[in-house]
Amino acid sequence: MNRDTSRDLYDRALDSLPGGVNSSVRAAPVPYPTFVRSGEDGHVVDADGNRYVDWVMGLGPLLLGHSLPDRVTSAIQSRTADGPMFGMPTELEVEHAEFVTRHVPSVEMVRFVNSGTEATVSAVRLARGYTGREKVVVMESGYHGAQESTLVEGQGEPSSPGIPASFAEHTLPVPFNDPEAAHEVFEEHGDDIAAVLVEPVLANKGIVEPEPGYHETLRDLADDHGALLVWDEVITGFRVGGLQCAQGKYGFDPDLTTFGKIIGGGFPVGAIGGKTEIMNEFTPSGDVFQAGTFSGHPVTMAAGLETLRYAAEEDVYDHVNGLGDQLRSGLEDVVEDQAPQYSVVGTDSLFKVVFTRDGERPRNGGDVGDASVERWNRVFRPQMQDRGIMLSQNQFESQFVAAGHTEEDVERTIEAYADAL
Ligand SMILES: *Cc1c(COP(=O)(O)O)cnc(C)c1O
Repeated sequence: MNRDTSRDLYDRALDSLPGGVNSSVRAAPVPYPTFVRSGEDGHVVDADGNRYVDWVMGLGPLLLGHSLPDRVTSAIQSRTADGPMFGMPTELEVEHAEFVTRHVPSVEMVRFVNSGTEATVSAVRLARGYTGREKVVVMESGYHGAQESTLVEGQGEPSSPGIPASFAEHTLPVPFNDPEAAHEVFEEHGDDIAAVLVEPVLANKGIVEPEPGYHETLRDLADDHGALLVWDEVITGFRVGGLQCAQGKYGFDPDLTTFGKIIGGGFPVGAIGGKTEIMNEFTPSGDVFQAGTFSGHPVTMAAGLETLRYAAEEDVYDHVNGLGDQLRSGLEDVVEDQAPQYSVVGTDSLFKVVFTRDGERPRNGGDVGDASVERWNRVFRPQMQDRGIMLSQNQFESQFVAAGHTEEDVERTIEAYADAL
């Protein structure tokens, strides 16, 4: 497989972009990232013309795949033709918010922003403003974007230079699926905790599903101590649990929910949703400042809303979840046969093989970090790419099924795993 153009582009990019990329994970593949020329259905074509089955799917936003249905394309094109944006409201923002509030049980109001990071930043500020408290509980290895309040590990140490220790000390990380640790943190800091921020399923560090009762524990602790429960559904929203999101699937009623990825139909987006009483604390109805030049961008709103309407009217979720089941069960057979120490993980249209060392399904992000990460990155992933299968860019990111994928894509992928493992 000739990948010289990608190599040359990366070489060139290293002079003008730090690390050669605009988002860190894109530089994870060895020996250099693959530059993309175009996409079609469930496939991408790289800068050298090589075609791959693509399971990156934009890192989650592309529920429909790379070829958008005509109605989505025309919604985007006609919106663009009317002028890109105005800084004044448009009807589309109202319609999109109505769609989300109609389908997601806990969400009564929505504030649109421009990225998942911006959504979690604003949700944390809102929770702090609403409760008058400063501390937030997060999950170790949970991911809530590139933001100061959540890039924290261990006993509240910043996980990146540039984050003041005085900032990080207000963040309390606990291991996912560990009710004891959650009880302890609330016993110690209960009166100061504004919110618990949690992904329903850890989807940025392996894929770790909640154990029965874990989310109930967080809900009860938050209620007992007057803290808000914030579900970060930036990945799971409109993917896990379909139109009701993961909170519909698991039967939960968070106080606030953050969204991103799918709701923008492939354009930059984020949103905060929740109960009216809390959401009205945002300016201008309340006092918690929140604003953005591009927020509720008309082209994004058109793309996101038309994508979600299409998913509501066509059998998109049956299709992607069905292929997800086929992938997971096919990969289970391969792993059982050839690498019983590895674990097949995922739900709905998320899937992954984590290179665990003992065949135990990971219970939290720490377990995923202890897996054979180097083998996955350096030995396994490049072999899959040589076989025409584009997996996630590191061992930790999820892989995503889209409406554009076919059973043939699934079969080819399972065969390639069997061949490469
Ligand atoms: C992707 C992601 C974010 C960050 O969203 P960006 O749009 O990349 O800023 C936040 N939380 C979760 C759960 C995510 O998966």
